[in-house]
Amino acid sequence: MTRPPSVDAVLRSPSGTVAVARFGHPATVAAIRVAIDAARASGDIPPLDAIAGIAVAALDRAAAPSLRPVLNLTGTVLHTNLGRALLAEPAIEAAAAAMRAPATLEYDVETGGRGERDDHVRALLCELTGAEDALAVNNNAAAVLLALATTAAGRDSIVSRGELIEIGGAFRMPAIMASAGTRLVEVGTTNRTHKRDYEEAIGPQTALLMKVHTSNYRIEGFTAEVAPKDLAAIAHAHAMPLLDDLGSGTLIDLSRHGMPRERTVADAIRDGADLVTFSGDKLLGGPQAGFIVGRRDLVRACAKHPLKRTLRLDKIRLAALEATLKLYRDPERLAETLPTLRLLARPQAAIRATAEAVLPAVTAWAGVGWRVEVTECRSQIGSGALPVETLPSAGLALHPIGGASANGLADRLRGLPTPVIATIRDGAVRLDLRCLEDPDALIALLA
Ligand SMILES: *Cc1c(COP(=O)(O)O)cnc(C)c1O
Repeated sequence: MTRPPSVDAVLRSPSGTVAVARFGHPATVAAIRVAIDAARASGDIPPLDAIAGIAVAALDRAAAPSLRPVLNLTGTVLHTNLGRALLAEPAIEAAAAAMRAPATLEYDVETGGRGERDDHVRALLCELTGAEDALAVNNNAAAVLLALATTAAGRDSIVSRGELIEIGGAFRMPAIMASAGTRLVEVGTTNRTHKRDYEEAIGPQTALLMKVHTSNYRIEGFTAEVAPKDLAAIAHAHAMPLLDDLGSGTLIDLSRHGMPRERTVADAIRDGADLVTFSGDKLLGGPQAGFIVGRRDLVRACAKHPLKRTLRLDKIRLAALEATLKLYRDPERLAETLPTLRLLARPQAAIRATAEAVLPAVTAWAGVGWRVEVTECRSQIGSGALPVETLPSAGLALHPIGGASANGLADRLRGLPTPVIATIRDGAVRLDLRCLEDPDALIALLA
């Protein structure tokens, strides 16, 4: 058996020299050691340059980012596991600018005095929602937590049994209430809750009434819920606030873009909610964030609560948010300027054209063992916005012929330089092309 080369010899080889230049000396030495040890253990000593090659490959793998771009062909536009909304170009530019230079995060250039970070989005949020005041925090879970901790800690919060949601992950309304230090008082039943249920539950310990958007499910059949207006009237008759957690919280009438109408934040304010909470990266199409908008005294109290400091936004996201919200000032062009809305509003015919365009490349790439066809499908909005409604879409279905494995093909798709995320249904691998606006991106990837 030949002896393995020394670390030094590999370091001095052409590939070793390049590796030191690219990855630095300590990392290269460590990777070469691992490669030599592996060669020694296998008893099969490759040539010196091959060992350097193994080390470089390992260094390349380690240097690749863990958080990588993917092609979302799942048909779920706001996919929580894939990062929800895509930011608009002006938001990306604003975020990059905020990263590169000092910014007026908490600084008032006019007076030279201290400013407030929420100043950058407050007026815009008020303008777009009709609220008196507004603040932004890390996400909507944080907004709900902060609103409850500020207005209901040590007292009771009344919620309908039909609205005790779990959003996924650790967001369960009863757990958030417990964390905020408020006692959950459930009223009504899963399918029916009436005005009298709220009225009878109100007592000296009651801090507020809460309404929660049932984002990811719908109760159908023999149901009854109290209209937001009526709920606000009950709360106000007892001199307490109504907190309305809208979840996705759209700022515009989605029916203008071919989607079902969803209650807007302005609707919730108009219906009398004193505080409304919603997300930044769902239908709004911005970065991850959560908002509390509503009555000035209550929003101010939330802003002063010590939790606000732990939940606040950084300059990068505030810059992106400000730029995103500004796009809403020109609602006519929003379907072009806001990627989330553009994808959601994409007509089925355009998606089908994309499917036709990529069909030959996908067929060739899949190879023998697969029959590929253009199909119609239904996209989901995702992230608990309009859970039941789907959007007419189109894509490709890859059917195995003989013994080919759908899971194996999905693995191959995820193994591409830019991973392609597909779904499997009825034994076929399915690509919903709603979120693929440029067919060439996929064609080049498969070439
Ligand atoms: C999504 C959602 C939340 C959580 O919002 P995040 O921004 O994900 O923290 C809370 N409440 C409702 C009703 C939701 O739909």
